[in-house]
Amino acid sequence: MGTVIYGSEVAEELRGQMAARIREYKAQGKRLPCLGVILVGDNPASRSYVTGKAKACDSVGMLTKEVDLPEYTTMDDLKKEIRKLNDDPEIDGILLQLPLPSGLSENEAILTIDPKKDVDGLHPISIGNFYLNEPGFVPCTPLGIMELLKRMDCPFDGMNAVVVGRSKLVGTPVSRLLQNRNATVTVCHSHTRNLKDICAQADILIAAIGKPKFITAEYVKEGAYVIDVGVNRLEDGHLCGDVDFDAVKEKAGYITPVPKGVGPMTITMLLQNTLKAYEVKE
Ligand code: NAP
Repeated sequence: MGTVIYGSEVAEELRGQMAARIREYKAQGKRLPCLGVILVGDNPASRSYVTGKAKACDSVGMLTKEVDLPEYTTMDDLKKEIRKLNDDPEIDGILLQLPLPSGLSENEAILTIDPKKDVDGLHPISIGNFYLNEPGFVPCTPLGIMELLKRMDCPFDGMNAVVVGRSKLVGTPVSRLLQNRNATVTVCHSHTRNLKDICAQADILIAAIGKPKFITAEYVKEGAYVIDVGVNRLEDGHLCGDVDFDAVKEKAGYITPVPKGVGPMTITMLLQNTLKAYEVKE
């Protein structure tokens, strides 16, 4: 049976380390790191994500500045608010909660964020730096996935990694991070043929699909490192991942659960990126 690696535990440990660093800065009389969070409109899911992120900041002693904008905000007004945060020396990172209400361009808004404060790693300059292996911000979920694989003592070098999903936020950037660690990476998507056979060759298998329990034991090589990124709500209200956890854990070497897997790592990496932005400035 595989070892279950709880992202919630890794996240707690990393948050403890960040909190200690922030306490040290405070003791030195320095200002505290601060994340600017912009929420446009009243989408309940977005509001609850923003509340979760503010709580996480608070848990490590980091400040947040929340900018709450009404649903009918114009593009010009949104860009003005982003620029205010860009120009505010007390703000280290900017998080624009997505999706935006229809009628507002996410691309235009993201382009307005100062890349030095782009802690979500979404600005084209951040993406360019990432692909050129230059310093900058990397999106939080892929960073969290890599941290979990490190906790599994994954050797990476020369391993066959299969990433199922090629989204901008997860599949594509994590495949790049795996390549950077000298894994041989195959990226699969909805047009991939023989998906099961390809996955069954994987030493590292990342599922970022958005389909409940799609990856069954037949897709998994004995002893594989399995990371389940998916978050799916079942009819009974419970959450589950893209991996059929109970069956796959019998075959995998290591596996992450859902919930308490990748999710808590994503927010923790946001805190880590914000602290990094602060430490570069201070
Ligand atoms: P997405 O943008 O919808 O991308 C899904 C990917 O899966 C696409 O590349 C799609 O292929 C591929 N796919 C869909 N059906 C497939 C199939 N039958 N066979 C093979 N590939 C298939 O989703 P995402 O944003 O990457 O998120 C994926 C999952 O992770 C979701 O459940 C999401 O909620 C979760 N997530 C969790 C976190 C976290 O922090 N825990 C963060 C982000 C996302 P095509 O490109 O061909 O359409």
